[in-house]
Amino acid sequence: MKEFMARYGTEAKCRRALYHARWPKGFRCPACADRRRSTFRRDGQTYYQCRACGHQTTLQSGTLLQATKLPLTTWFLGSTIR
Ligand SMILES: [Zn+2]
Repeated sequence: MKEFMARYGTEAKCRRALYHARWPKGFRCPACADRRRSTFRRDGQTYYQCRACGHQTTLQSGTLLQATKLPLTTWFLGSTIR
């Protein structure tokens, strides 16, 4: 548990873990596969916007996490306990 908290204890760490799960070799646009992106925040969410086509995505989009409003830390905790 202590180890778990050290690993996923913060939103930033959760986000990093998700980012690597989603794009193991770095960002790739789901629409056009371009690798250039910029980021911005809206409503507490980090958005990744493709610089080639303007497609916007989040780490949660297209995953189960998209449906939840829980903080990432809570989600990680729940998925581990279950
Ligand atoms: Zn694109």
